[in-house]
Amino acid sequence: MEPELARILEGLRRARGRVVALTGAGISAESGIPTFRGADGYWVVGSRNYMPQEMATREMFDRSPEEVWRWYLYRFGACRLAQPNAGHAALVRLESALGDRFTLVTQNIDGLHRRAGSKRVYCIHGDAAYVRCADECGVGLLDLPELPARGKDDPFTGADRERLTCASCGAWLRPHVLWFDEYYDEPNYRMDSTLRAAAAADLLLVVGTSGATNLPMQVGQIAFARGAALVDVNPEPNPFAELADRSPRGFFARGSACQRLPEIVEALGAGAA
Ligand SMILES: [Zn+2]
Repeated sequence: MEPELARILEGLRRARGRVVALTGAGISAESGIPTFRGADGYWVVGSRNYMPQEMATREMFDRSPEEVWRWYLYRFGACRLAQPNAGHAALVRLESALGDRFTLVTQNIDGLHRRAGSKRVYCIHGDAAYVRCADECGVGLLDLPELPARGKDDPFTGADRERLTCASCGAWLRPHVLWFDEYYDEPNYRMDSTLRAAAAADLLLVVGTSGATNLPMQVGQIAFARGAALVDVNPEPNPFAELADRSPRGFFARGSACQRLPEIVEALGAGAA
């Protein structure tokens, strides 16, 4: 490990500091989960090719709920066989060591942190394992109904429609994910809790995220403004790496989550794998 990074982490370990880990698509990519941002996310409806940024919207769901659900069921099927990796496992060890001094904030909806064993997790973009009433009638979060995995061309069936109907009010159930034309909030996406955790963090550990969305960047800015330590784990330069470079206790730990997290959490006192 680079001496400067070791020195930053050693200081945090001695001070028994609070740690917020912020994870993004990079850590899931190492488990083989596609990002669905490029060609693998395109979806043909009629004669038109839709981008993920058009499919994952409330507007599209209101217009074509069956198409949006077909797209999600296809995506969820592609994620089903993925397993948590060494990066996820390292964050579980860190939580075991720090207890309430640890908070995990993730942009990933694939549930891999939960499946790895993380408990203190805020899923700020939702969690694909759950659905909720599209009319918000008050039924809360429900488990995603058991539906067969399917290919791109499989039709949406009457049985699908039935399983994806709110038993309480008869409206559609929707995926418990934040869409591009929706806003972060506390009840569904833990926005306030996330900002509070960021404001109390002694270390912000950013993993595999490019900072493209608004709340993660706010978390980075809060930690930076407070002078918290800031470690960015990423194979590529990105806005969080720039923040880390400008921070007196910042470090850009170049590499993937699986490569860098095991040694980082060990230096924070979490014990070896
Ligand atoms: Zn309902």
